[in-house]
Amino acid sequence: MRLSQFHLRTSKETPADAEVISHKLMLKAGMIRKLAAGLYTWSPLGLRVLRKVERVVREEMDAAGAIELLMPSVQPRELWEETGRWEKFGGQLLKIRDRKEAEYCYGPTAEEVITDFARNELASYKQLPVNFYQIQTKFRDEIRPRFGVMRAREFLMKDAYSFHVTDEDLVREYRNMHDAYSRVFTRLGLKFRAVQADSGAIGGDASQEFHVLADSGEDAIAFSDGSAYAANLEAAEAVSPGDRPAPTEALRKVDTPTQKTCEDVAALLGIALQRTVKSVALMGDAIDGADPGGQFVLALVRGDHVVNEIKLAKLAGLADYRLATEAEIAQHLGSEPGFLGPVAPARPIRVVADRSVAAMADFVVGANASGYHLAGVNWGRDLPEPAVVADIRNVVEGDRSPDGQGTLGIARGIEVGHVFQLGRKYAEAMKCTVLDETGKATIPAMGCYGIGVSRIVAAAIEQNHDDAGIAWPDAMAPWLAVVCVINPKNDPAVAEAAQTLYRELNAAGIETALDDRGQRPGAMFADMELIGIPHRVVVSERGLGAGTFEYRHRRASEAESLDRNALFARLG
Ligand code: ATP
Ligand code: MG
Ligand code: MG
Ligand code: MG
Repeated sequence: MRLSQFHLRTSKETPADAEVISHKLMLKAGMIRKLAAGLYTWSPLGLRVLRKVERVVREEMDAAGAIELLMPSVQPRELWEETGRWEKFGGQLLKIRDRKEAEYCYGPTAEEVITDFARNELASYKQLPVNFYQIQTKFRDEIRPRFGVMRAREFLMKDAYSFHVTDEDLVREYRNMHDAYSRVFTRLGLKFRAVQADSGAIGGDASQEFHVLADSGEDAIAFSDGSAYAANLEAAEAVSPGDRPAPTEALRKVDTPTQKTCEDVAALLGIALQRTVKSVALMGDAIDGADPGGQFVLALVRGDHVVNEIKLAKLAGLADYRLATEAEIAQHLGSEPGFLGPVAPARPIRVVADRSVAAMADFVVGANASGYHLAGVNWGRDLPEPAVVADIRNVVEGDRSPDGQGTLGIARGIEVGHVFQLGRKYAEAMKCTVLDETGKATIPAMGCYGIGVSRIVAAAIEQNHDDAGIAWPDAMAPWLAVVCVINPKNDPAVAEAAQTLYRELNAAGIETALDDRGQRPGAMFADMELIGIPHRVVVSERGLGAGTFEYRHRRASEAESLDRNALFARLG
């Protein structure tokens, strides 16, 4: 690609409304442009990176035996009624009507659509196992879209759904997908961890999340330094509290099992946090495919602001809680009423406040079945205690690992993938059956497997940047190399040599751009560093005279002079 014929539009200004570095750099590099809350246009530059991620995901899914298809992003209400999720999914489900007043949603996920496909297409056990996947736009009406494409409303997801005659075979495919995901993130050059996730009703080993490790991550994960144990904090088991400091008086008050309304939780939290807490709202956040009941979000309202939300409670039977009305929440959020789905009662709510929460001066609350349980506050700032409690079940840094091997560390992560054993609930609800070997109709077991393709782009930047901008891992770079021409207009020989080199590099299979925009060297180099091209080659009159090119790796501090052979050896 000749950059003079491409659309590159970088900016020196740091965008004021971007909180995290990836969002800032994606805007500065001109990779994305905001259209509306949680809606982004991918510029030609951004799209090149997105497509790279997509390609790796597709290749590994294909290699793992999954089969690609493409389902509509708009889905009819009737299908969602069959699983009960039209009502239960909550406010993330964007509902729309056509001209005949028929109702649809914009798909946040596709269990219903794939199960409908399966019940029509799959007749016999002989067609199983099968794993269908798509890479398709999803829409979730997130309460707080933020961090650019990291938590967008419209985003690109790879979602896969497998069908099996036996549970054992589901477990086999679940492991197969787990391994494929590990290969995807390894190939993309990311530091990641697979962690056990709380899979609600299904329990056990049935759900794992893949997290890209980054301090800005919204999730906290616990991992052992002495074994492979790793879990997100919703799933992490506390072992012994050890010699952790005793709870403060305020905390003990929060632990009383008698208060049972959101207002009470708010008041108790207010005591614990020594702040005025006006009210607590429970909001539907929906979803994880495994649990039609979905996960719910608890939002704490302090002063005039809803200051945080985190999915915590599973829908069960929280009949005693008064939930903030939709209008109340909408008012607090400054949004229109109607963005929340109906809020059904649920029982197990837990309390959590973790580091990111604390960083935003936000607090999240809940209570478990046996009573309220505040298990994470920014100690020292919020409460006069030295330890940092980071977990709803009281897992703290330095705890013994539940498997008895090693001690736990706590890290922050960005959820980029999620694998689930769904079991038979969707197939059962939607009457999807196949004939087994004896000719009897049997309900297949299902798995589902998601990857946040567009989120990965932002997550990768969180891990790979410096003061000058993005430093892409090779697999995600818009181009692997760039040939920069000094003074192309004034010096035809230099321009000619640069073009030749550019053509030869591409011919050698090294994806290379030619920066022939005629910019001054300083501005040109700054742009190439900002957009993160791994290899930079400068063609100048001086170098030509000496028969060398100036080469610099994006992560190297110095440039070096290389002749043609050495250059190709370095890049090839
Ligand atoms: P989160 O906990 O971040 O809200 P999720 O658990 O709701 O994510 P899943 O239903 O597991 O998401 O969807 C599969 C993947 O889709 C996630 O692992 C994540 O990478 C991606 N994803 C989910 N929501 C968003 C979003 N709003 N913007 C971008 N990517 C998303
Ligand atoms: Mg979510
Ligand atoms: Mg999640
Ligand atoms: Mg998930």
